[in-house]
Amino acid sequence: MDSPARPRRAIVTGAGSGIGRAVALRLLREGIEVLAVDIDAARLAELDGKNCSTMSCDLSDPVARKKLADAAIGADYLVNSHGIICIKSIFDVTVEDWRRVQAVNAESIFFLCQQIGPVLRAGGAIVNLSSSSSKLATTTEVAAYAASKTTILSITRSFAYALAKRPIRVNAICPGIIETPMQASVLAEVSALRQSDVASIEAARHAAVPLGRAATADECAGAIWFLLSDESAYMTGQAVNFTGGLVNW
Ligand code: NAD
Repeated sequence: MDSPARPRRAIVTGAGSGIGRAVALRLLREGIEVLAVDIDAARLAELDGKNCSTMSCDLSDPVARKKLADAAIGADYLVNSHGIICIKSIFDVTVEDWRRVQAVNAESIFFLCQQIGPVLRAGGAIVNLSSSSSKLATTTEVAAYAASKTTILSITRSFAYALAKRPIRVNAICPGIIETPMQASVLAEVSALRQSDVASIEAARHAAVPLGRAATADECAGAIWFLLSDESAYMTGQAVNFTGGLVNW
């Protein structure tokens, strides 16, 4: 449970960019000490400072994950926001593409939950970044990525059960369209594959969203903070849509 008596600590992966960066900044504003983790050391350097330390590593590497798990002992929160996307025709995806996406997006999250979940302080929480693509198949150019994001939902449910007695809560968030560097690359590469232009693809995507727009990374960080905080103390094992109404199941 939230305790003002001691400083709280969080591990945020993918903190060099986009949603992870916004989560790290939000947690710092909440007075929480952050260990920001990313493969991109240069982007992390911008965060290094008061209450924020950094660790640059490839989270698909088991040795790096063990080092992170050692640093995580006694932390309150873990947000797994690192990830990669593979944009190709579903018929061109190779075994190597498939394995890399599963290793970075899904395998790493399984073992981060396995190794860090048990060393979090009782009352802590984990949020895993899944995606609306775990539930939709409309963008077939991201099929390998979508499979990894569906796996994250299963991982989240399993660890929610496994860690509930301590209690540590484990939830997933399924963002739709969030304005980040990853989203920009999706738009650019999907429009190239479909021989269309970015503006038309973007307009069609926004038109499909009931609220009619993308969200900012800060808005998404707010929903993630809700899932970490005691405001959601009775929620675990959930896959929370953050899609402007695009997905409602
Ligand atoms: P992003 O590309 O802006 O940030 C992802 C970060 O992960 C980068 O800083 C990158 O360096 C880091 N990273 C990649 N591989 C890594 C590895 N092996 N080890 C450590 N760090 C690594 O992406 P984003 O849009 O902020 O996405 C964050 C998360 O949210 C991802 O899991 C993504 O799949 C998910 N998501 C994003 C959107 C969206 O619209 N932006 C939608 C749904 C889900």
